[in-house]
Amino acid sequence: MARKNVVVLGSTGSIGINTLKVVERYPKEFNVVGLSAYNNVKLLEKQIQQFRPKFVAVNSKGREYFRDRLKAPTKMLSVDQDLEELVARTDVHAVVIGMRGAAALKPFISAVRNGKIVAPANKEALVIAGEIIMNSARRNKATVIPVDSEQSAIFQCLQGQNRRELKRVLLTASGGTLLNVPVSQFNELTVEEILKHPRWKMGQKITVDSATLMNKGFEFIEALRLFDLDIDQIEVVIHPEAIIHSMVEYMDGSIIAQLGVTDMRIPIQYALTYPKRLDVGLKPMDFAKLGSLNFQRPDYKKFPSLSLCIDVARQGGTSPSVLNAADEEAVEAFLKHDIRFSDIYPAVEKIVRRHKVQPKPNLNQILAADQWAREETRKVIYKL
Ligand code: MG
Repeated sequence: MARKNVVVLGSTGSIGINTLKVVERYPKEFNVVGLSAYNNVKLLEKQIQQFRPKFVAVNSKGREYFRDRLKAPTKMLSVDQDLEELVARTDVHAVVIGMRGAAALKPFISAVRNGKIVAPANKEALVIAGEIIMNSARRNKATVIPVDSEQSAIFQCLQGQNRRELKRVLLTASGGTLLNVPVSQFNELTVEEILKHPRWKMGQKITVDSATLMNKGFEFIEALRLFDLDIDQIEVVIHPEAIIHSMVEYMDGSIIAQLGVTDMRIPIQYALTYPKRLDVGLKPMDFAKLGSLNFQRPDYKKFPSLSLCIDVARQGGTSPSVLNAADEEAVEAFLKHDIRFSDIYPAVEKIVRRHKVQPKPNLNQILAADQWAREETRKVIYKL
């Protein structure tokens, strides 16, 4: 079979780097046709030299940097303007969306509209516009295979089963950095302390969201959209070892779980090779060494973000867009040391409650709600 032509959006982030490790291991399976990054030009330059993509999208400073350094046939594109066109090209088979933030929305929609295999690690797009994306994917026969470990697990547990026999999804959560930190200490937590995640090495924004469990709440909304579930069909289970990546229960009481070591190459590679599987090259899991797997109920009082997300999921419409934008602004303010960790949730909640939800929004209304929420959150945070 011909090689799969892959575009990697966000190639210098942790998902992008791991995607390229998968590609590097299987040069007969994959060919990189496009890379995009925001501003890490040094790493991007190395990736260009190694993978020789036809297209590279970067910001204006980056294009300046590459002006005399880039050799033909690689063509420079704008990361802000050209991604929709890049992923829609007829020679593109699969698109890995590793870039973070709402900026992924337009290329994501373009990829599904053009019937591609889409492997999203990006949460924001599915949270704010999951219905639009998944409806378009169904209409245009695009295959959306999530890369997020939990969503990949659910996707895998649904394979070969009858959807009508599905009872519920058990979405697992490692519990983040603060699982065993009492809420009385939340006030004094520094950025550095929050960024030490016990199980996964990820970007800063998502690590903060893991600490508040906002990340799990986003995954709750994401799972609803990806798998077309009802709200009462998803239950969040805390599982600190993060060995089970999620489970699916069927009508007869059988529960199918997907397990594995915490390495993103597994879900990334699965999304790219689906429905087949190839050796990822990791050490086999040693269950005896692991000893035990633990589970607990999430503490919704300690982590109110999780209940807020479920409320927002119930409201639907423009509500998830507002939630996502407010959280992004509040977390950014925290990472800049402008607010305390314990200020994140109250700011986000205030904006979500203040918003007048528009049901069944189109893309422009979703983006307008996003914009409104950002401005309002900044006003609340910086007392403008
Ligand atoms: Mg996850």
